Amino acid sequence: MRIVDIRQRTFPLNVAIANAAISFDDMTASAVAVVTDVVRNGKAVVGYGFDSVGRYGHGGLLAERFAPRVLAADPASLLDDSGRNLDPDKVWAAAMQNEKPAGHGERSGAIGLLDTAVWDAVAKIEDRPLWRVLHQRYGRGPAPTTVPVYGSGGHYRPDGDIRTLADEVKAMLGQGYARVKIKAGGAPLVEDRRRIEAVLKVLPSPDRLALDLNGALAPAVAETFLDTVAPYGLGWVEEPAPPLDFATSARLAERYSHPIATGENLFAADEVKNLLRYGGLRPDRDLLQFDIALAYGIPEYRRIVAAVEAAGWTRARLYPHAGHALALHVVGGLGLGCAEAGADQSKMFGGFPAGVTIADGRASLPDTPGIGFERKANLFAMAAGLVE
Ligand SMILES: [Mg+2]
Repeated sequence: MRIVDIRQRTFPLNVAIANAAISFDDMTASAVAVVTDVVRNGKAVVGYGFDSVGRYGHGGLLAERFAPRVLAADPASLLDDSGRNLDPDKVWAAAMQNEKPAGHGERSGAIGLLDTAVWDAVAKIEDRPLWRVLHQRYGRGPAPTTVPVYGSGGHYRPDGDIRTLADEVKAMLGQGYARVKIKAGGAPLVEDRRRIEAVLKVLPSPDRLALDLNGALAPAVAETFLDTVAPYGLGWVEEPAPPLDFATSARLAERYSHPIATGENLFAADEVKNLLRYGGLRPDRDLLQFDIALAYGIPEYRRIVAAVEAAGWTRARLYPHAGHALALHVVGGLGLGCAEAGADQSKMFGGFPAGVTIADGRASLPDTPGIGFERKANLFAMAAGLVE
């Protein structure tokens, strides 16, 4: 078998929302299709990948460097031992040849996008959902039937209406989510307190609420913010420090005794090791949110999991960022702690593929082969026409 073609397109997200760091008005993402010569049900197997949200599209890097390298490789050099399926580690290595170490930047997202599509193809060729493929290869214990998820939303909106925010959280609870996350740190503290208290009124307990500061606050402001919210006893506060400022992270963790979550803007195992060495995080309560698709995909994520475990943490403290369909499979397959879900199903990156149900804070795992992007209609539409 062989990869016949790799096609990609960049598309706009078209959402008027913001967090403390950025607005999403001009945000883009990429779709990629890895076309194989394997035929299932009369059609060529195609693996699809979609960017994770928040870092813009990666089409240029893919078109100029990574797709040409994979297409130029000897097809046999990309296969597993059976010779009947791709070996994702080998495709990854072919794409990454002649790349210097570190300086991960946008490269890690382009590779993660390509890797997502390769794994989708691998699972489709195996005729199994990706989480089952991953569980067999890298999982622990019995296969899961559901995985914990939390609902993510509560962005700042142009109308700034607090009742709309409370209604959004009520809707998440109605959808079956038990824990929710909203944005914070992007408004004056007095307004953020009103937002937090409005949401706490609709939740059964404060530990069901998380706040995402998006690494945007100056350290002194973050200190005041944490001091202010500490009495609430929230589920976690996310990115209180700038993502790569490990000394500030350590100082804030010293100051704030409740859980801190971070890591969505770290893109490789070496960055993760530095966070765990110097970021002052506590393996008994804090959460690690590395984004699988933005951080070089599953081969690098496995190295990240190994680094996390070597530092004395368990997989249960891994909560991958972004509500990406890929992450749901990896959480299930590798036995991680929790998947994020953009709770608004009407958004391209909200909700899960059709057929995934949410109840009591847990999501069912898909049973269709591959990742299931085809069943997330408003996202999959962005890949329409890549393959005839
Ligand atoms: Mg976040």
